[in-house]
Amino acid sequence: MQDQLIKGIFNSGNVLIYVATSTNLVEAARQAHDLWPTSSAALGRTLTIGAILGKTLKNEGEKITIQINGGGPIGTILVDANSNGDVRGFVGDPHLAMTYQENGKLAVGTAVGKDGYLKVSKDISLKSEFTGTVALVSGEIGEDFAYYFSLSEQTPSAVSLGVLVANDNSVLAAGGILLQLLPGATEADLKLAENIVANLPPVSSLVASGKSALDIINSLKQEINILETSSIRFFCDCSKERFQQSLKVLELNDLKEMIDDMSGTEVVCNYCNKHYHFTQKELEAIYHEKLADQKH
Ligand code: ZN
Repeated sequence: MQDQLIKGIFNSGNVLIYVATSTNLVEAARQAHDLWPTSSAALGRTLTIGAILGKTLKNEGEKITIQINGGGPIGTILVDANSNGDVRGFVGDPHLAMTYQENGKLAVGTAVGKDGYLKVSKDISLKSEFTGTVALVSGEIGEDFAYYFSLSEQTPSAVSLGVLVANDNSVLAAGGILLQLLPGATEADLKLAENIVANLPPVSSLVASGKSALDIINSLKQEINILETSSIRFFCDCSKERFQQSLKVLELNDLKEMIDDMSGTEVVCNYCNKHYHFTQKELEAIYHEKLADQKH
């Protein structure tokens, strides 16, 4: 089943709902970065909410970036997404497999830590950038985002994010649900949203049982008008041409050093782990292009 994202609005018109199934995109991230279970869960939850946030952008070319660092062993989690449903990202340490002793669940909060921040930046139109930063609550990602939305965007929200990992480390199921109260929301709307979240099974188990995003919406037994259904995917738009441009930003001396190495140089994309090789010849061409540019 393809990863999907549905945006809907409750009949009162005061509560927005986003439901995402993200098993394939989290599995794609796992394969790209060779993620171990706890790293998969931490990045997978962030990728899923990233895909949802990407869909809140209005225009082509806009981008949202999430950065999380809680001082835990996983280091920094970085995710970005656009309005087309493309999301990509990475974690500092992909090789974490830690569980909580009490319940055997993947210890995302321990891996992330909670002595740090969650930061969201939006690249809207050309240069104006909106940034909100909050302190982490638990490092479990979902809770941290609920806090972010209420504090930084003044939008009371409930967030449920989940990733289920199989014994062979592959991703069995992943998904996310975001409920947001709009400015006109009443006490009744708030109760409704709270009730839904309190009674909802973990979203990853819903997805694991074969439920689609629409099935999940229907299982809430509410009058929900669907506003948009779209697909989401793990996708990185990096290219050799783009890395060529970033090599050109280097100092001539540094380029020269690379050229002196007969075997050329390898550049790795942080977001998708793709390797790009530049031969000595290609590096020389970049060097001469830069030299010519400087003379003008
Ligand atoms: Zn890439």
